[in-house]
Amino acid sequence: MHSWTSPAISPLPASGLPLRLHDTRTGRLTPITPLIPGRARLYVCGITPYDATHLGHAATYHAADLMHRALLDTGLEVEVAQNITDVDDPLFERAHRDQVDWRELAASQVELFARDMEALRVIAPHTYASVSESMDGIIDVVQRLNARGRAYQVETPDAEGDDWYLDLGQDGALGDVSGYSEQQMMAVFAERGGDPGRPGKRNPFDPLLWSTARPGEPAWDAGVLGRGRPGWHVECVFIAESSLGLPFDIQTGGSDLIFPHHDLSAAHAVALGRGFATVYPHTGMVAHEGEKMSKSLGNLVFIHKLLDQGIAPAVIRLVLMAHHYRADWEWSQSEVDRAVERLRDYREAAALGGAHPRVVAALRQALRSDLDTPAALGVLDAWARTVRTADADLEPSAEDGAAAESGAGAEGPGDVPAAVDALFGIDLTA
Ligand code: ZN
Repeated sequence: MHSWTSPAISPLPASGLPLRLHDTRTGRLTPITPLIPGRARLYVCGITPYDATHLGHAATYHAADLMHRALLDTGLEVEVAQNITDVDDPLFERAHRDQVDWRELAASQVELFARDMEALRVIAPHTYASVSESMDGIIDVVQRLNARGRAYQVETPDAEGDDWYLDLGQDGALGDVSGYSEQQMMAVFAERGGDPGRPGKRNPFDPLLWSTARPGEPAWDAGVLGRGRPGWHVECVFIAESSLGLPFDIQTGGSDLIFPHHDLSAAHAVALGRGFATVYPHTGMVAHEGEKMSKSLGNLVFIHKLLDQGIAPAVIRLVLMAHHYRADWEWSQSEVDRAVERLRDYREAAALGGAHPRVVAALRQALRSDLDTPAALGVLDAWARTVRTADADLEPSAEDGAAAESGAGAEGPGDVPAAVDALFGIDLTA
């Protein structure tokens, strides 16, 4: 699948300081040490293309972009893969409701998503694969699981063939990523696509591997499995395996993917005799008007609508940066107003020039510390205030003074706008 055009990136001279991310699996801040030395591999769970792109999506892909940029800044080669869940119930339901072909609906939403990502200057993934174009490989993974005795059939009263499930009981990997109790799993499984109460399942959390063809739904031939379509988690297992290789370094997505999606994707890999991701950072949920953004509540804030209202992409990024990626937060107009002020102040300061190695070092440090963007904004606020005040006071030597005071003259690069562009994807010279 064609992704989008990446922004031009002018990396700073590499700084060896490792990126540290909070790992949901262990609950610890973990330095990213690539399994393949010198080459970091990042998997970002993608959209189901029927309601793209709202702010919750933007928060997730912004955080993944910061991980990508931070890894590049440490001097690593970075490989990123992302999927598109274009074979999925909500997409089919929306297509049916709107009387459009599901492929057309998916294509239009994928295009909209790409436009939004490009506007937000998110670096494009190296592999960007949809389920429909990956079908042969996904079928192959389900067949391998079946050959390893990990798949079983469940009778399907409303169709001719049987559905196939993954038998979690054999490998004991359930809960490895989430650490959730059975009660916590039960609380979210059904609302996130699971079917804990289905008769014939061996374990309530066994995930659907292959769904037999139902009338009016798209279906693919899969040999012994029969005609049908894949379950949700197996798609990411195939796309990660074929693009990055298993195991790999980081899998990220919203905190609503911790269970079942990331937990059970990893369980699939274990059932294949492989490992999955090493570190799992998850992004918080975005609320609006007092409630978590969701299509059922009708309070989604769409990126393209914000852009149409004349809100600059850099302003959206600054609003996102004002919240730590792991925090849940609420979108509001006052957030936008503050970001507009910041962008104006930062651009004014950027225009005044000067070398500030200590500021650049502090920005790098903040990004490396679990993407601490609120701290980075604190650094930039102080920088902009100092530079602008110094200029207003007509003290041409103030910048030299600041550098001398910190003893930072030879510490490293000091071009703040270049650093903000490379690390945070915001062009202050525009
Ligand atoms: Zn995924």
